[in-house]
Amino acid sequence: MEKIALVTGSSRGIGRAIAALLARSGWAVCINYRVRRDCAEDLAAQLTAEGCRVMVCQADVSDHAAVAAMVHRVEETFGPVSLLVNNAGIAGQALFQDVTDQMWHRYFAVNVDGAFHCTQAVLPHMLHEHEGCIINISSIWGLRGASCEVTYSTTKHALIGLTRSLAAELGPSHIRVNCVAPGVIKTDMLDALPPEALPQLAEDTPLGRLGTPEDIAYAIAFLADEKASFITGQVLTSDGGFLL
Ligand code: NAP
Repeated sequence: MEKIALVTGSSRGIGRAIAALLARSGWAVCINYRVRRDCAEDLAAQLTAEGCRVMVCQADVSDHAAVAAMVHRVEETFGPVSLLVNNAGIAGQALFQDVTDQMWHRYFAVNVDGAFHCTQAVLPHMLHEHEGCIINISSIWGLRGASCEVTYSTTKHALIGLTRSLAAELGPSHIRVNCVAPGVIKTDMLDALPPEALPQLAEDTPLGRLGTPEDIAYAIAFLADEKASFITGQVLTSDGGFLL
């Protein structure tokens, strides 16, 4: 199978670093965004100028039909997707008693249904080829409870369940499914936190710093590589030791 990757939510943050690293490593990459077309196109222009093969595609991952259309476009442009990175996600803080139905369902729609939609859309070709790699982005809050982030944490736990169950089901078809659980990574997602929280989070991290999007991209590149071909159903935590 050709090296063709779809990275959801790759206009900004962690997804952007993953798309850039994969593209620079020889993958043809679809850069997906929901609203920030400017960021997606800026990344595509940079990578294209470097000789990389990339395309940009808008789709809200919570929309099954939009995801199917995006995957169809990737297949027409590059060919069947051989690496799917389910990265698009939303986060926010609220006391559990203040969580509305709308918030609860939106978080699940993007963080969990999004991975479901994208995975179902790329699977037919992976099953046909008897090959493929799917990587879900969970979080340290998918491994541990998070006060004031119950909704987010619940969706991230769900992604780990999805990873393990799918890995068991798809192993016989030689499709690997793994998960990366990032610690605190310096992206726009942290903008919701009070500024004084960031030095404290760095201090709470044994390695003494916040993670960078590139730290997570390297973990993805490792799991996607042929050298990781005996690894499936695993959660690779990249958190500077935060959970120790
Ligand atoms: P970010 O900086 O807020 O970027 C989010 C990305 O996801 C953007 O590209 C955004 O697109 C896209 N996106 C959001 N909703 C989408 C939707 N419905 N459909 C398609 N794309 C959508 O976030 P990040 O920090 O890079 O986080 C990326 C992933 O890592 C998330 O799953 C997050 O939960 C996880 N994570 C982050 C941290 C952290 O500390 N940052 C820690 C653990 C796990 P637009 O640009 O178009 O808005």
